[in-house]
Amino acid sequence: MSIHVSNVTKLYGEQKALNNVSFDVKSGEVIGFLGPNGAGKSTMMKIITGYIPQSEGTVEVCGLDVREESLNVRKKVGYLPEHNPLYTDMYVREYLLFVAGLHKAPKENVDVMIEKTGLSPEQHKRIGQLSKGYRQRVGLAQAMLHDPEVLILDEPTTGLDPNQLVEIRNLIREIGKEKTVMLSTHIMQEVEAVCDRVIIINKGVIAANQKTSDMQGKSGVVILNVEFDEPVSANALKKIDGVKRVQHIDGGHYLIEASEAKDVRSDVFKFAVENGRTILQVQQEKAKLEEIFRSITGK
Ligand code: ADP
Ligand code: MG
Repeated sequence: MSIHVSNVTKLYGEQKALNNVSFDVKSGEVIGFLGPNGAGKSTMMKIITGYIPQSEGTVEVCGLDVREESLNVRKKVGYLPEHNPLYTDMYVREYLLFVAGLHKAPKENVDVMIEKTGLSPEQHKRIGQLSKGYRQRVGLAQAMLHDPEVLILDEPTTGLDPNQLVEIRNLIREIGKEKTVMLSTHIMQEVEAVCDRVIIINKGVIAANQKTSDMQGKSGVVILNVEFDEPVSANALKKIDGVKRVQHIDGGHYLIEASEAKDVRSDVFKFAVENGRTILQVQQEKAKLEEIFRSITGK
């Protein structure tokens, strides 16, 4: 067992951020920790990595109690915090050498990680000059420098553009072949794209814990993942017959929830033409997980 969380409660003053949370993550699994903002995802991850203590309950990582053996736990765990604090004035390679020093990890690991995360062309740039996608790669490299068994990634793709999103997801999938990974997200499709299993948390309580493959299937609803060349009116998209809901991801990227019975794709293409927009990509996905998530969280 890589992560064992048993009856964990976390209080911030009067507020219960986590309420009697229990789950296990097996060695080698890639787990999606899914929940709306404020659900308690970051709090749980900070407890697993030993950055803050739980109020009640126990957490073990690789069989080690995180409160009693926090230093040994940190050797086993790589952590990408939510806001990925990086030293923007440092050069990529210099920063990674610095982090390797902190972990007493061999310097050779820096070159291995630069290679693995695709940072070679950027390694002599200042972190502050990098795009958000490359900064996330630096964050991932930083988390993996000491070759930990378990990776805890807090919203690793938030704020990325669609291309960066795909690249970072692919990178996480690669990493997941060798490591136990727990990643948090509020995007359901992310879980379907990357994770073996999903744990849904809402208001500090675990609401579902299932294999991703068990959640997919017929649901009567599909999600169109559409990328226009420029932003369009979400309200106008919503007026297309069969469209139930429109979520703006960023730029020209939208998730359109539609009835499976009425294929709305031709209408979406027509919409693009009428509005002088080009469709860069469109993908249709099953919406089972999305539905489960929304019915659980009321979002
Ligand atoms: P998520 O990562 O799922 O968005 P968080 O774990 O950050 O959720 O937060 C869970 C709840 O705990 C929220 O209501 C948040 O406002 C609260 N919270 C988080 N950190 C603190 C803190 N340091 N002090 C007080 N409340 C906090
Ligand atoms: Mg968070």
